[in-house]
Amino acid sequence: MIEFDQVQKSYQVGGRAIPALHATSMTIQAGEVFGIVGHSGAGKSTLVRLINLLERPSDGRIRVDGENITDYGADELRALRRKVGMIFQHFNLLSSKTVADNIAFPMKLAGNYSRAEITSRVAELLARVGLGDHADKYPSQLSGGQKQRVGIARALACRPAILLCDEATSALDPQTTQSVLKLLADINRELGLTIVLITHEMDVVRRVCDRVAVMDAGRVVEMGSVSDVFLHP
Ligand code: ADP
Ligand code: ADP
Repeated sequence: MIEFDQVQKSYQVGGRAIPALHATSMTIQAGEVFGIVGHSGAGKSTLVRLINLLERPSDGRIRVDGENITDYGADELRALRRKVGMIFQHFNLLSSKTVADNIAFPMKLAGNYSRAEITSRVAELLARVGLGDHADKYPSQLSGGQKQRVGIARALACRPAILLCDEATSALDPQTTQSVLKLLADINRELGLTIVLITHEMDVVRRVCDRVAVMDAGRVVEMGSVSDVFLHP
């Protein structure tokens, strides 16, 4: 589903190329919840942002559904962004738009949905994330957990096959974290979405991930099932 083949990423800083991800090869299977853990600066965000081309690889190849995305142009990139939804630590909602308009936004950008389709899809998503009564509120009127539910609904709007989560529960209290994780697990199970999840919280990994990669200093240093990586004697 997502294949990294000798993918390398460096950032240009002051005219120098600083490596953030050393040559990495790995496969994330369709339908799994794949965790990425590691210290700050290990390269987790870089690895995940390569999957929807928020960052372009400096070398190597990335395939999504067997297709090499590495040299995608603008049109293909738009299609990729519909296939790969993303949620963020600080939610990244538009503060001047209502909950419903935030969720509708990617569908309007995509340009190929009718107004009726958007209206019914937004209602369906509001129900799925448990915010049926909050359609007309603004983000500032919501709790952190509610904001992340809006972020999840927005990410699902164009029916992606993959959901990327960058520290999606790090700004939430433990109880809210549990309920957002349960929502993500339900989405994985009921819709069959592949979920790639960055976290620094071990409890998150234990609760929802099938497999996990441990990153350190720009390399994947361990990868396997959660029990193999964390629970061996
Ligand atoms: P993590 O998500 O594990 O904290 P990142 O992928 O954000 O790690 O960062 C990996 C390395 O790349 C760090 O050294 C970071 O400072 C550097 N880095 C990340 N983004 C940029 C950028 N846009 N420009 C320059 N350096 C960056
Ligand atoms: P159905 O075959 O009835 O669409 P699914 O199990 O595929 O059943 O989907 C259940 C619900 O979730 C449907 O309302 C569908 O519109 C929605 N759905 C399906 N796939 C996705 C997706 N990738 N992202 C968000 N919602 C989806």
